[in-house]
Amino acid sequence: MSRLETEVQYLKGVGPRGATSLQKLGIRTVEDALFNFPRRYEDRRNLPPIRSLQPGQTATILGQLISVDARPIRGGRVISSAIVRDGTGKITLTWFNQPWVKRQLEGKTGSVVAFGMVKQTVAGLEMASPEWEFVADDEAAEAFARIMPVYALSDGVAQRTVRAACAGALAYLDDLPDPLPPELRRREKLPDLAWSLRQIHAPDSEIDRLRARSRLVFEEFFYLQCGLAQRKQSTQTEVGIAFPIKALLAGETVVAAEARTLFDPAERTGLQGQPLMAQVEAMLPFTLTGAQQRVVREIWDDMAKPFPMNRLVQGDVGSGKTAVAACALLAAVRSGYQTALMAPTEILAEQHSIGLRRIFEPLGIRVELFVGKNSAAQRRSVQAKAESGEVDIAVGTHALIQDAVKFRNLGLAIIDEQHRFGVMQRKALRDKSEASPDVLVMTATPIPRTLTMTLYGDLDVSIIDELPPGRTPIKTHWKTTSQRDWVYERVREVIGQGRQAFVVCPLVSETEKMNAQAAEDLYSRLQNEVLPDLRIALLHGQMKAKEKEDIMARFRDREFDILVSTTVIEVGVDVPNASVMVIEDANRFGLAQLHQLRGRVGRGAHASFCVLIADDSSEDVRQRMEIMRETTDGFRIADEDLRLRGPGVIAGTQQSGQSGLRIADLVADSKMLTVARAAAIREVGLNPGLTGDEWELARQRVAEPRNDMAVVTVS
Ligand code: ADP
Ligand code: MG
Repeated sequence: MSRLETEVQYLKGVGPRGATSLQKLGIRTVEDALFNFPRRYEDRRNLPPIRSLQPGQTATILGQLISVDARPIRGGRVISSAIVRDGTGKITLTWFNQPWVKRQLEGKTGSVVAFGMVKQTVAGLEMASPEWEFVADDEAAEAFARIMPVYALSDGVAQRTVRAACAGALAYLDDLPDPLPPELRRREKLPDLAWSLRQIHAPDSEIDRLRARSRLVFEEFFYLQCGLAQRKQSTQTEVGIAFPIKALLAGETVVAAEARTLFDPAERTGLQGQPLMAQVEAMLPFTLTGAQQRVVREIWDDMAKPFPMNRLVQGDVGSGKTAVAACALLAAVRSGYQTALMAPTEILAEQHSIGLRRIFEPLGIRVELFVGKNSAAQRRSVQAKAESGEVDIAVGTHALIQDAVKFRNLGLAIIDEQHRFGVMQRKALRDKSEASPDVLVMTATPIPRTLTMTLYGDLDVSIIDELPPGRTPIKTHWKTTSQRDWVYERVREVIGQGRQAFVVCPLVSETEKMNAQAAEDLYSRLQNEVLPDLRIALLHGQMKAKEKEDIMARFRDREFDILVSTTVIEVGVDVPNASVMVIEDANRFGLAQLHQLRGRVGRGAHASFCVLIADDSSEDVRQRMEIMRETTDGFRIADEDLRLRGPGVIAGTQQSGQSGLRIADLVADSKMLTVARAAAIREVGLNPGLTGDEWELARQRVAEPRNDMAVVTVS
């Protein structure tokens, strides 16, 4: 057993009790402690004098402990306080409902270090709920006056204990091998692992700490990117289908030799003779935009290659991804292959099947819908058709990737609204065919470039960065809660003109149940008090899928004037007659989400508008509302969102609380991400399996499931 497996209870200052508490942080062994990185640092070499503190400033202070107190307040709770003083002034530290603070400080002589936000009150300077630490008078000054690591804590775990574990673990660094080969470290000018860990936990200087940090950030990104590069490379060595795109463009009637099609496409009207591009123009009721044409070319180029396509198409809401998909489908079907289009919900699948039938049935191309709500007999029938090759385009939900569905010769799979699908589903689709089918993923979530690299680093990316002409831009208004009645009066007017409206209420809590309750409350207030004369429906996440689909379908068919819902309507639903989107408590949403919601309107010929209801409670809210008013550019919004809220939110990982990254920050470290990505592509290019002794540890790290996280947790 490696010494790194030594349990932390044997380290000085930890002991069995400390070790038990450390388990809450996932720290059991010396190795766990070494990789438990500090959350921040306190530079105690130069603390500000108390008198110099400014209200609003976040600071670390050191002062002699003067007195401790605790006084009860309403509801049986307690406020603890301590007064500390240095040569220049004094400050009161307060803690809400932490009665143990008094117990821990009472009767002690020494100093307190506290970190928090400084406030000015009538009684003088105050720091509410600071992080704190007691320093006994006899502690050596030099042990104190340095850059101190501050670790994340959990209930009942003391900062002191985590520090002891991490400091004690440093004695074992000699046993720790460096997974990055010396050659790579030299080229990237990276310090070794042992030095870096020492500097991360006990920095000699700010420069050393930063250098150590970059090495650890590089390493973390490097493993992730090696995994993606390997995945990408393995699909490029896989045998795929080389669609005869060149011949189709020239107007030849061809069927790929391997297609094993039952039918000769040439026998079907519309599938013969015409050059592919001319046929696209004939089958669509509009001309493709420049961006659509470029992306279609990129897709067709991929399809022509002999290995499987793995491409992501990013295009804002309404940018016309369906038409692009149709072009890919046409090329595959004309080559004699079957295709599949997957959508995240039944209603979206149904919407696609209707649209695609309109385009393709006149050409003799057969579209079938595969959804869970089909009766058993229907299901058997469409499955039989898929298996025998009597379906050219299978449209469906995840029902499509269920085991029972087999294809005779699936050549292309398109996944709409990627963020609801994970890698596993992509793989399941791929496994449905002998030769790996081409895979095209379409998403309306504009993702900043740095994130695209991490989330979809194994995909090639196409961007539709242009909207079809002639759209009336959606006008966005920002109103405060006191103007709410006025807003609903305007909604009534628009409905009087024959339009429909969405009203979105926010996720108010972590639990779906409480969110549903909030939606119900809003619904009954609108229906009973504000707009009793209108037909209002309610939609929330607690309803059964079937119920939701039903409500959505009836709203689309204009049985209701207003749909009150939680964010379940976020993805791709098309109700062209809906021209108003009211978003209650808009301050509770991130920009990307507001943008997605807003995209539910403006899909028809009518002028549309979006009303954000939010009180301007903070600078941050003001900024977000202004950005929404200013722009409808999804990429700009995504960048601003990343800047204001950080990456976890966009990736949809914040609920699970894991960005998966231990030290790297996708925003702040985006330069290093690029460096690590380039290094990973080079190393995997030279040595795809990362074989050889010097790569052994790195190889294991790359294979760790954590390195799949970025993609998998996009839920
Ligand atoms: P999304 O990218 O959000 O999936 P859709 O494919 O649903 O967008 O297209 C949105 C609307 O724009 C549809 O009504 C579609 O018919 C229309 N559309 C798409 N491309 C064009 C174009 N090049 N010219 C005019 N209208 C277009
Ligand atoms: Mg779409």
